Amino acid sequence: MVHGHNSGRRSSGAGRPPRIGIMGGTFDPVHHGHLVAASEVAHLFELDEVVFVPTGQPWQKDPDKVTPPEDRYLMTVIATAENPQFRVDRIEIDRDGPTYTIDTLRELRSSYGPSVELFFITGADALGAILGWHNADELFELAHFVGCNRPGHRLSDTGLPEGKVSLVEVPALAISSTECRERVRKGEPIWYLVPDGIVRYINKTGLYRDS
Ligand code: NAP
Repeated sequence: MVHGHNSGRRSSGAGRPPRIGIMGGTFDPVHHGHLVAASEVAHLFELDEVVFVPTGQPWQKDPDKVTPPEDRYLMTVIATAENPQFRVDRIEIDRDGPTYTIDTLRELRSSYGPSVELFFITGADALGAILGWHNADELFELAHFVGCNRPGHRLSDTGLPEGKVSLVEVPALAISSTECRERVRKGEPIWYLVPDGIVRYINKTGLYRDS
């Protein structure tokens, strides 16, 4: 179900500006919930492409508890490699300092040009943190925001500006990165919660085993 999107599905193809999804997340690790969310939002909003943007330094998290950016970037590349509609951008990984969505959207807006429609997609919980900070007005000029709700953790759209934010329910987000990390730590399987290549990458590198 989508709330707050003023026009719902629109005609695709020629005659409308390209529509690009920017999928922001720590992706520690990326899992099938993220992939289903990206696919669902691409379908609902008729996006031409979804660009996954792993965060560089999520400033609100303890840096010692976040997996190095290069591992999170590589896992995101592995998970999205087979889908021609998905790609991964290093923009936040390569930028020094703490990661702010406003900087990312400014850079992407300037590289894509003014005519492209940008949709910033992330977890509904995280949206509160982004939109609660300064520059909110500029954020809304740069992109439309799509918050993906996981079952049982629902952000209502109360208080969010009309027409600027949409909330989408994604049942597959019952899978969470926290749970995946915890399962690996306890020696439990994560097959089918994440793509096979991610299970193999985690096994090969030993990620999450001692954390
Ligand atoms: P988080 O707090 O780790 O995650 C909040 C919730 O959203 C978790 O349940 C998480 O589940 C889920 N989630 C995260 N990314 C998702 C995605 N792309 N699709 C669906 N669910 C998602 O959030 P975060 O990963 O640190 O940040 C999310 C995005 O917001 C990033 O792009 C980050 O840079 C941005 N952010 C910006 C600011 C700012 O500019 N001031 C502040 C906070 C966050 P999983 O753990 O399973 O992913």
